[in-house]
Amino acid sequence: MNRNKLKNILSKRVLILDGAMGTELIRKGFDKFPPEVYLPRNQKAILEIQRDYVNAGCDILLTATLGANPLKLKTIGLEDKMEEINERAVDTARAAATSRVLLAGDLGPTGEMFPPSGSLNFARVYECYSKEVKVLKKKGVGLFILETFSDIRELKAALLAVRDNAPDTFIVANLTFDKDGRTLIGTDPTGFALSFEDMDVDALGINCSLGPEGILPIFQELSRMTTKLLSIKPNAGIPEIVNGKTVYRMGPEEFVKYGEDFFELGANIIGGCCGTGPEHINLLVKRLGKRKPNKREKEILKGISALTKNVIFVQDSPPVVIGERINPTGKKKMTEEIEKGTMQTILTEAKRQSKAGASVLDLNFGMESGIREDWTRNLVTELLISPGLPLSLDLRSEYLIEAALQEYGGRVLLNSITLEDMDKKVKLLKRYGGMVVFLPIDKNGIAENAKKRLTMAKKAIRLLKEMGFEKKRILFDPVVMSLATGYDPSITIEALKLYKSLGLLTVLGLSNISYGLPYRANINNYFLNLCTNIGLDAVIMNPLEKEISPELDLSPVFSGEKNVVEFLKEIKVKEKERVIQKEEKEEDDVLNAVIAGEKEKTLSLVKELLKEMDYEEVIEEVLRPALEEVGKRYEKREIFLPQLIMAAESAQTAFVFIEASFQKKKTGKGKVVIATVRGDIHDIGKNIVAMMLKNAGFDVTDLGKDVPTEVIVKSAKETGASVIALSALMTTTALKMKEVIGRLKEEKVPSKVIIGGACITNKFASDIGADAYAKDASQATKEVKKLMKKNNC
Ligand code: ZN
Repeated sequence: MNRNKLKNILSKRVLILDGAMGTELIRKGFDKFPPEVYLPRNQKAILEIQRDYVNAGCDILLTATLGANPLKLKTIGLEDKMEEINERAVDTARAAATSRVLLAGDLGPTGEMFPPSGSLNFARVYECYSKEVKVLKKKGVGLFILETFSDIRELKAALLAVRDNAPDTFIVANLTFDKDGRTLIGTDPTGFALSFEDMDVDALGINCSLGPEGILPIFQELSRMTTKLLSIKPNAGIPEIVNGKTVYRMGPEEFVKYGEDFFELGANIIGGCCGTGPEHINLLVKRLGKRKPNKREKEILKGISALTKNVIFVQDSPPVVIGERINPTGKKKMTEEIEKGTMQTILTEAKRQSKAGASVLDLNFGMESGIREDWTRNLVTELLISPGLPLSLDLRSEYLIEAALQEYGGRVLLNSITLEDMDKKVKLLKRYGGMVVFLPIDKNGIAENAKKRLTMAKKAIRLLKEMGFEKKRILFDPVVMSLATGYDPSITIEALKLYKSLGLLTVLGLSNISYGLPYRANINNYFLNLCTNIGLDAVIMNPLEKEISPELDLSPVFSGEKNVVEFLKEIKVKEKERVIQKEEKEEDDVLNAVIAGEKEKTLSLVKELLKEMDYEEVIEEVLRPALEEVGKRYEKREIFLPQLIMAAESAQTAFVFIEASFQKKKTGKGKVVIATVRGDIHDIGKNIVAMMLKNAGFDVTDLGKDVPTEVIVKSAKETGASVIALSALMTTTALKMKEVIGRLKEEKVPSKVIIGGACITNKFASDIGADAYAKDASQATKEVKKLMKKNNC
């Protein structure tokens, strides 16, 4: 069905999706999850479940292809069966469906992670889904649902792949959220709405996650912030583990009660995720299936975002500060680094500006000749992790802009377009999303007076509208030039007033005004105040620059009484004219370097410490407390997964150095095998525990993440480890721990087992027969010591 036809139906009534496939298979005794493994051999189980959903009355039936993309299939060794699995999935769904049921291609994540957790990138995701969607499209699938994604970068690349291969198809894009109302990598619902507002997707939504009760406030925010249609597909409550089995307790009645709430908030497409079955769907159909979607209140969002930070332009609040210091002009070291293809100075400059109060970072590469696309991609990726502020791309070459837009996660600002130069840049922004700065420049240069600047702005609005680019995505620059050239600043003030009288968003490149003059900070600051009073929304400036001569009264200059050059020649102010804030000294400690994810700095600081301290002291008194502090900040959600990983890697660099340099390290306190169980691809917590155990003197065999039960058991036997430490992040994979413990007992391996992870509790540990549980890395070390004693006597 084409997308307009489906949109038309959705304007008249709510559509009901089917329920879970994975948990239904398990319920029916097919425990060899995931469903993709059944498709090549035995389709019957899937066919039966899908028939139940069709009989329950669902309008849309999903193909059993959540994990059938090439990258995900690779993890279970079925990559070469990608076409067959997808084709069979469509055939099976079609056999189950009746003519009134729509088939939707179900697309789940790749299972790989973007940096810093992994090395996924735009091109890899794009290629992956292009392959799968081509197959599904050929088989006649007329609707696609992207779901269970937790990284907006992956979702964006997947969406573009679907759209390019299925231009006339309705697409739904769903994210999964965690307890604190953010995705695993830290994006909140407003950030989700901002990132996809400009993109060619038909509906946004949420699936799985926290059960309907937990999702409700997240969905409420999304419903207010996005103008797209809304899809919701909750799981049947938060799973509990009872007698070693995952149980979803929420019955159809309660589930559908929440369905009513989602309907009230304007949901257009409603279904069920893990733990829901045909009974849940049948009741949804009965209660909500024929209703006309509820009208909802929407906010017009004016803002930009990165993975974890949103910057909203708010009327009557101080202008948003866009830091201008990433610009090689006049900076020798930065120029050299850009030429060499390194980026340390840029990253340092980014962090300094962030600390000094910048909310957005402007990125300017100067001449751009010889700058490599992959360097640009890496830089954008690094800046997204730390300091993680939204970016303003002050770039000219389209290939660099596109490279940056592809790797970017969030809604970007492009600085800038003019009447002479908008077609290609606007085309890129229409594809990848983002806001833009407009400069009133045409073929004759900058408009010389305020009225002409307004005329050009109006012309730009009209032209951009014709191109399908809305006014609310543009920031208008009134333009200021150096007073040293005799420029009259009242032109800028007047232009700004005219812009604001039309309710336009505005931004100013402030520093130009004082170019070539002394007392730059004073001049900039004075003029910024004038503009702030008129309602300037954002300012591109140097956030490190502070006004240092408060007694210097510039009013005669700005009132036009005096010529600026003459005036500044006459006055004498004692202080030095322009001071760049110095980095504070206390920031030079290991803790801050670890938290900021600065590997090189961490290492060099640790090397310094090792001159005066014993290496054991450095570990116990410096590195371990730093890691614990990082853990605390992560729990409080002051930092998010990408920053946590960067921090752990920085500490790791120091540990590796210490290990290599101090040969007679303490070992012999006992052998430990550590692993993250099968199905879990996150191992950050496990890595920290492994590091701490090594430093406590244990001989640690680290098997890594996503480790099959057999491998763990085999390693336990081979090493003769006294303790096996297991980690799991998700409730579904936690059950693998039980499997490991069972197998160890069966094979009479005497090792003690300690478990931990986000979803693990003390009770769960004793339920599945683990010998110990630890809630964090330092407790893990203590517990392992205890277990060693037990095992030895
Ligand atoms: Zn689910």
